Amino acid sequence: MRVLIIGAGGAGNVVAKKCAMNTDVFTKIHLASRTIAKCEAIQKDIKDNFNVDITISALDADVVADTVALINDVQPDLVINMALPYQDLAIMDACLETKTHYMDTANYEPIDEAKFEYHWQWAYQERFKEAGITAILGCGFDPGQTNIYCAYAQKNLFDEIHEIDIIDCNAGDHGKAFATNFNPEINLREVTQNGKYWENGQWVHTEPLEFFKDIEFPEVGVKRGYLLYHEELESLCQNIKGLKRIRFWMTFGDEYIKHMEVLQNVGMTRIDPVVHNGQEIVPIQFLKTLLPEPSSLSEGYEGKTSIGCVITGIKDGQEKTVLIYNVCDHAKTHEEVQAQAVSYTTGVPPVTGAIMMAKGHWGTEAGVWNVEQLDPNPFMEEVAKQGLEWHVVELPNGLGELTQRRAKYE
Ligand code: NDP
Repeated sequence: MRVLIIGAGGAGNVVAKKCAMNTDVFTKIHLASRTIAKCEAIQKDIKDNFNVDITISALDADVVADTVALINDVQPDLVINMALPYQDLAIMDACLETKTHYMDTANYEPIDEAKFEYHWQWAYQERFKEAGITAILGCGFDPGQTNIYCAYAQKNLFDEIHEIDIIDCNAGDHGKAFATNFNPEINLREVTQNGKYWENGQWVHTEPLEFFKDIEFPEVGVKRGYLLYHEELESLCQNIKGLKRIRFWMTFGDEYIKHMEVLQNVGMTRIDPVVHNGQEIVPIQFLKTLLPEPSSLSEGYEGKTSIGCVITGIKDGQEKTVLIYNVCDHAKTHEEVQAQAVSYTTGVPPVTGAIMMAKGHWGTEAGVWNVEQLDPNPFMEEVAKQGLEWHVVELPNGLGELTQRRAKYE
């Protein structure tokens, strides 16, 4: 498989290196991003550590004609989009024009509105079918691996699934007062928005981080998870049969929440332009400039991520609950590919997905697919070999009702 990776940030670095560790599958690796210096640094690392040559170029993926020209030059079988959600549609347009398969890890979001919805990308279904190409959406960890855990549970562990709680904990410590583990702009847009979850066919809306639960996470212990909206809820509520409720929980330390609320209160997370000294700036973009890059956090990062799906349903007439999860150690991922575990858990699934396409397990039917619509079994086998071991344990019960609410909302 010839692959073009767009985006040389924290997660793009992992994708490029993991491809370079699988040269039996990837015969050509090209990395393109807005800042060529970041591509050069990754190219050098790959040569030094894995003795593999990759090619690179500067690209502004917002300009469809430039991406089309690069695709025509590189002739990839697959484009893996590791840039930002803002670029999704432009890169999909370039793939359509050149009849090249497409994959990403985050759904499209307009730059001037924090709205995570799949409808913009699902609208490409007929055009991708007509062009005979495949788009695989949301193939990171969450979304991505978590959707595949649900599909795996549906195929192998349950006759019917009723409740899903996706639980995401980063119990690591990067030693900074405040930093985000993936692109700061996208991260802050996600956690400052109103929350929602899906129950009995309807969306139930909440205030930002209004509800929490103290959840026992494998290997890292009890942590406080906050209910927030995450994009995989939108596709999973359509694709998991019998589902009655799906929610998403993410842990945040008190320090993180304090910083985030102060930044929000003073207007630093605003996504609309303001005039400063006669010049228009977007506060959240300025804030991103000040904050550490996710790719710079990995040195000295301690602790683990622990992410999984708590799934309750029926098997052979009996109700049961399972947790399917992965634990990933920041220091180990740093040692392997000079990345922290959040970048690592985001970067390994798209490489595994690309291997699925190369081996003919995925991508045999043209169109636009969310990962849970594809066969989970060969993916689960491969992803463990690629570095994301997973485990299934039975739990006595699911997470239960919403009972704990932050004092400010009482
Ligand atoms: P980073 O900010 O570290 O990297 C993003 C990279 O994309 C940067 O190198 C940036 O270039 C490049 N880029 C931005 N705009 C363009 C453009 N117009 N043309 C070309 N390149 C561009 O972010 P992450 O690596 O942490 O995240 C990458 C993606 O992964 C995001 O979409 C994020 O939402 C997604 N993600 C998904 C997760 C999942 O589990 N599904 C989890 C975490 C992240 P420059 O350096 O010049 O700005």
